[in-house]
Amino acid sequence: MFGHLTLKKASITLPEQSCALLGNDSPQFVFLTTKTNRVLVMTTRLLLFLVLFSSSSLLRIQAQTDTLRLLFAGDIMGHAMQIKSAEVSPGVYDYRPCFRYISPTLEKADLVLGNLELTLPGPPPYSGYPMFRSPDALGAALREAGFDVLVTANNHSNDARGRGVVSTIETLRRLGFQQTGTFKNQRERDLFYPLMIYRNGFKLALLNYTYGTNGIPTDPPTIVNMLDTALMAADLAEARARKPHFIIAFVHWGTEYQTEENASQRQLAHFLIRQGADLIVGAHPHVVQPIKVETVVLPDGSKRSAVVAYSLGNFISNQQKIGTDGGILFGVELLHREGVPRAEVGRYGYVPVWRYVHRNTQGKTTFFVLPAAKEVPSDLAMPQEAIDAMKRFLERMRVHLQGVEEWNW
Ligand SMILES: [Zn+2]
Repeated sequence: MFGHLTLKKASITLPEQSCALLGNDSPQFVFLTTKTNRVLVMTTRLLLFLVLFSSSSLLRIQAQTDTLRLLFAGDIMGHAMQIKSAEVSPGVYDYRPCFRYISPTLEKADLVLGNLELTLPGPPPYSGYPMFRSPDALGAALREAGFDVLVTANNHSNDARGRGVVSTIETLRRLGFQQTGTFKNQRERDLFYPLMIYRNGFKLALLNYTYGTNGIPTDPPTIVNMLDTALMAADLAEARARKPHFIIAFVHWGTEYQTEENASQRQLAHFLIRQGADLIVGAHPHVVQPIKVETVVLPDGSKRSAVVAYSLGNFISNQQKIGTDGGILFGVELLHREGVPRAEVGRYGYVPVWRYVHRNTQGKTTFFVLPAAKEVPSDLAMPQEAIDAMKRFLERMRVHLQGVEEWNW
């Protein structure tokens, strides 16, 4: 729109300039017919207009920087208690209340991505740990809450075996998600991997891998992406070949309940950066691990850096261990200057989220994801004990992630 305004202004000022130039014509031009003169005036105007038009658009292009706001959520779990709480009448599930208070935060982003650490097998039976099988209604509620992309390569990918891998993919597609990390077969992996995401003029490549599947073998022809360096090197080469503005690796790794990353995570992060990953987001430990800028030296001696969020903790779960009662939404602003092949990271930061289990007077429970730094929702009769627990979580997060910007989304 602004570009159009600039152009209009340029075209309005043009005629005066062209007339002034023509006013300095030498006398022999007087003998030109009026018609020829008009053609000459118009041609000159047109030429000047084209010169100004192209230089003005060029300036606009050089000046224009697009922004894409990404938001990543950690482990989306489906424990037995969550399934029971979402059952509104026998066999009917509704998870929408869980995300009521976090949805406005999610909606501020251009793209919301999360780690779906469960399967959506379709019909019951449903179950929590250790074989996560949740009703499709959970997927529907996540979509409605603002999630756009779910990654599914994690240690619970095979909890409903090969049929579960397929039904999870099909359900997510039906709900309008983009999904990656697990595949129905090699043909679909060849077609859809790396996952290309087009949003607001940005072209992103997303990759997703897991360290394992809890010893449950993957049923052919389904595929679960494993953390295999040869495979990842080939995939990253393919990602680079597709010339995206930015490459993101979402990895399932690390040690559960460890609040610091381990040496193998660092090593793997460095490997991914050397292979072309521009941003690395981690999941699995169920607690938050540091957000760092990691730098590697490439074979030609040049350096390459990327932001690594080692673990985002839990988005929603019924875990009780210290630090598992919440997590962070990791936010990244991508900047892309028109005409430049790659995007870069602008600001990045985190939004702390906390899981609150509300119990009404009839003893019915509801799980909520709350933005931990915001005022307690006035329509949620949250007991002081819960408010204090949320504040303790928030304070621990602020100490743990000191130096990283906290976003008030
Ligand atoms: Zn996991």
